[in-house]
Amino acid sequence: MNQLADTWVGAVGARRVTYDPWANQPRDLDFADANVLVAFGADFLETWGSPVDYAWQFAQMRDHRVGQRGKFVWVGPHRPLTGLNADQWIAPRPGTEHLIALAMAGTADIAAVARQTEVPQETIAQLAQEFRAGRGVALGPGAATSGRNAVALQQAVDQLNGGGAPAAGPTGTQEMLQLVEQMRAGQISVLLIDGINPAYGLPGALRFADAMREVRTRVSFSSFPDDTSLLCNVILPGHHFLEAWDDYESQPGVLSLVQPTMRPVFNTRQIGDVLIGSARALGSDAIAESTFYDYLRSRWGAGEAGAAAWREAVQSGGRYPAAPTADMPQASGFMGAIALAGAQPGAAIEPVALSTTLTPAHALPPSEPDLARTAPAPVGTATPQMPIGGGGLGVPDFEGVDGANFYLVVYPSYRFYDGRTANRPWLLELPDPVTKVSWNSWVELHPQAAATLGVRQGERVEVTSPYGRLEAMVYVYPGVRPDTVAIQMGLGHAAFGRFTEGRGVNPNVLLGPAVDEAGNAAPYGVRVAVQRTGGKLPPQRGLFEQGVRVQHDRALAQAVSLAQLQELEATVEPSMPGEHMYLLKAAGGFGAVPTETNPAAYPPPGTRFGEYHDGQPRWAMAIDLSRCIGCSACVVACNAENNIPVVGPDEMRKGRELHWLRIERYFGTGRDAREAYEPNATDDVRFLP
Ligand code: SF4
Repeated sequence: MNQLADTWVGAVGARRVTYDPWANQPRDLDFADANVLVAFGADFLETWGSPVDYAWQFAQMRDHRVGQRGKFVWVGPHRPLTGLNADQWIAPRPGTEHLIALAMAGTADIAAVARQTEVPQETIAQLAQEFRAGRGVALGPGAATSGRNAVALQQAVDQLNGGGAPAAGPTGTQEMLQLVEQMRAGQISVLLIDGINPAYGLPGALRFADAMREVRTRVSFSSFPDDTSLLCNVILPGHHFLEAWDDYESQPGVLSLVQPTMRPVFNTRQIGDVLIGSARALGSDAIAESTFYDYLRSRWGAGEAGAAAWREAVQSGGRYPAAPTADMPQASGFMGAIALAGAQPGAAIEPVALSTTLTPAHALPPSEPDLARTAPAPVGTATPQMPIGGGGLGVPDFEGVDGANFYLVVYPSYRFYDGRTANRPWLLELPDPVTKVSWNSWVELHPQAAATLGVRQGERVEVTSPYGRLEAMVYVYPGVRPDTVAIQMGLGHAAFGRFTEGRGVNPNVLLGPAVDEAGNAAPYGVRVAVQRTGGKLPPQRGLFEQGVRVQHDRALAQAVSLAQLQELEATVEPSMPGEHMYLLKAAGGFGAVPTETNPAAYPPPGTRFGEYHDGQPRWAMAIDLSRCIGCSACVVACNAENNIPVVGPDEMRKGRELHWLRIERYFGTGRDAREAYEPNATDDVRFLP
């Protein structure tokens, strides 16, 4: 599709803007053998880079394979799921994360950095020493630390890793900013949008919806009504990905072929067919093939060899691990999003100078009431000039309204990413792995901050930035700095289907248009005012948290220290597998318990399941708790495999969710001083229907 879109743009005289603010996150890092892993806001177990590969590497790193378990340190103002899996959390003053990295690299004075970051000097010195002593790997910056110091942090991380990091991919931020200004100036007459929802995801300061209304013909290829397609006057719905052909490059050198698994259910079309047909209708012969299927197939090879390569790709799902060659498609990254901006034939587009200084929000016309949620009326005092942040040892300023009392972190959702999967009921009902809240948004406040504001869990606060405001319920969370509030992306859509529309809040409305020195979006740079509004939402719309937060000193999620295990391994010769853990049972270890089998007892009375033949294998499921990161993928997999319906928020708060597997998340307190995840399967997984 990537190549076809470029050809189509050239054929019809349009311009293409590809925007992905996180396209510069690396997907081919190797840290499986690291002794010390330091992540600067990079939530690599959730959304950063290549989370499936990185979660596997993390498990390898922590697997005690060679008598050691790698240490993981999280650096950032807030702990998402990845941060909650860390052995150590370092929370420097927001905007100073790069100074920690520079001090670790030995290029900044530790005492000076300690003063700037508010992190004890001994902590920084110890981290630097540990990092240098073993095989240390640094990751970052992540979305939650990508402010105007992002380039300085990126350079410091590269320095820590010994240099040589490949150039980061383009994010298209500058092109998108230019496009919005051109739309606002009436210089764009036709806009085609595919695979992106800018009316939801762009910073509120850009007022994308207002700019888009200045475009005469607004076309969406979305197969689902969303915030942006709501603003379009032509909808050409594309196939669902399970109905469509395509290809993509998941890792450098790995080309995957996307094949339809079902016939189209609704009156939709392959988007490639629309592009090919429209190019022909405009008199272009730049694309020889008449369908996208033919186009795709020809790109995988010509002649007999090409036919064989195609058959091989269809059978194996792609081409691995061959690097792309001249006759193969330049596949896009899987996050590739396309916005096509075109002029009506014959209409002139005036070039617009690229600028990082945008029109202040308060100077723009007010939004129409029906779209107020995506582009709220400006409040407070906007900063008219948004300077590009300084690198080196500089600490960037944060913009804020009068009385702003908190730094703001807006972070991508593990379940909804940037909001693109928020219309899936299974994901809406899945509790967030950290807060265990489902079907809603929340504002994370440290217990001290909540006490200062006089608010409790579930009560409402108003959050105001120079660019917008929102109201949401408080989630009291010890994993955020006392001077910071964190809000997850994903919900708060003006339109996204009946399960999602109007549910939760969109924190992007609070963000400004700042960019870093590389010209990429720098949303982490805003201070907000948080005020108690009083009262809770009605019970049917309030905050519901699944499970409990603590183990009540009952050691529910058992654990032993590595030192205890190593001491025992060094002194005791085991007589049976797992004996070391069995001997450590009093300290929290588990061990194998020999049991007698009894085939005659199966199937148990009252069920036809569980037939058991002597001498035949009998299946069981074991979960290695030392590897569990609490991601909850198994919960959704169980839903999918067993076709489990959702019950919705009202039934869920009555405890009627149908999850046969749930992940308990415990915050560290008292005797159970560490955070822990514990998968709880239903009582007897042997007899599930
Ligand atoms: S057991 Fe479940 S929650 Fe734990 S890592 Fe595996 S998929 Fe994730």
